[in-house]
Amino acid sequence: ENGQTYNLAIIGFGGMGSYHGELIDEVERIRVTGVYDLVDYRMQLAETRGYKTYESLNAVLSDETVDIVVIATPNDIHKELSIQALRAGKHVVCEKPVTINSSDLLDIMKVSEEEGRIFMVHQNRRWDEDFLIIKDIFEKRKVGEVFHLESRVQGANGIPGDWRQLKAYGGGMLLDWGVHLLDQLLLLTDSKIESVAASLSSILGTEVDDGFTSHIRFKNGLTALIEVGTTNYIKLPRWYVKGLEGTVVIVDWDLSGEIVKNNPDVSKIEPVPIQAGRGLTKTMAPPSEESTLRLPLDRVGDSGQDFYSNVVAVIEGVTEPAVKNEEVYRVLVLIETIFEAAETNSVIHKEL
Ligand code: NAD
Repeated sequence: ENGQTYNLAIIGFGGMGSYHGELIDEVERIRVTGVYDLVDYRMQLAETRGYKTYESLNAVLSDETVDIVVIATPNDIHKELSIQALRAGKHVVCEKPVTINSSDLLDIMKVSEEEGRIFMVHQNRRWDEDFLIIKDIFEKRKVGEVFHLESRVQGANGIPGDWRQLKAYGGGMLLDWGVHLLDQLLLLTDSKIESVAASLSSILGTEVDDGFTSHIRFKNGLTALIEVGTTNYIKLPRWYVKGLEGTVVIVDWDLSGEIVKNNPDVSKIEPVPIQAGRGLTKTMAPPSEESTLRLPLDRVGDSGQDFYSNVVAVIEGVTEPAVKNEEVYRVLVLIETIFEAAETNSVIHKEL
């Protein structure tokens, strides 16, 4: 069994389906046997990339050489396709958001268990280096105890003009990008959530949210502001994190940013009032240069291939899944709570 190569079929060959093909090219133990997409043009594209195409979903599921199926279709049919593939005895890797509500995920998990086949969600942004840098700062207490963080992605292009604009397909930015940022958030602390407030944005007149803002408070006192926008011509930093001893900023995907923290070797220097607008302020004066340290961000390295190597190891029973379904479930419940908070314009107090 050791060293076996696994055969994988991709269902849904759009932007992400073809990206899975590229990811798997880098993985020694998995090879793509073929692709299935509903749309002819996508099938032709797959052929020009050198893939075999299957004439139907059934042809994929009844191909006994296929060990793993990747579901990279719009969100509304992840559940149905995942369950069919599991029932056909395949291991399944499914794109995010795994389902459009939490109870659908429980249904899939039940089938996965019954069939003894693994089901893993591609929460690839757990390996984003910006996130890993922030996680490292949390864990090593590089700015002391973190008490507040802000995590944002912002664009100015609106919602892409496809199924992402439509409710029936599980569109909207909370499900699309929110699921990544919230998944990352929940990996930063062991604490339970105690309350959630949120508002959805609908500037563009689509039937789904074109962004959202959510305030999440954890039982240990940590507060988080999670924000996604598609109408931001100027964007705010990707990460802004405050600890008792300093502040971190990561500006963008290029990982520009810094840590500014108190210098433990210099006793506190009283700030000098500055002119600010038509007034003077000591409160808002910058900390003195001598009393602060400006540190570069420590790079932690990019480990982009971890997902599929982990899939192989999980299939072989030698390790735990890097993305656990229980964790994904908690994120979906949080998303439902954000929708509820936004719709009722209230703070939802519940342990989560
Ligand atoms: P897309 O529209 O580019 O591609 C979807 C493809 O699925 C299309 O080619 C469509 O024809 C095909 N399809 C639809 N119904 C099908 C069916 N029943 N059977 C077979 N094929 C079917 O969308 P996309 O951007 O590639 O997104 C696909 C999925 O990947 C979504 O769930 C999305 O959220 C996810 N995604 C994840 C990331 C990430 O970073 N993890 C990034 C982008 C998209």
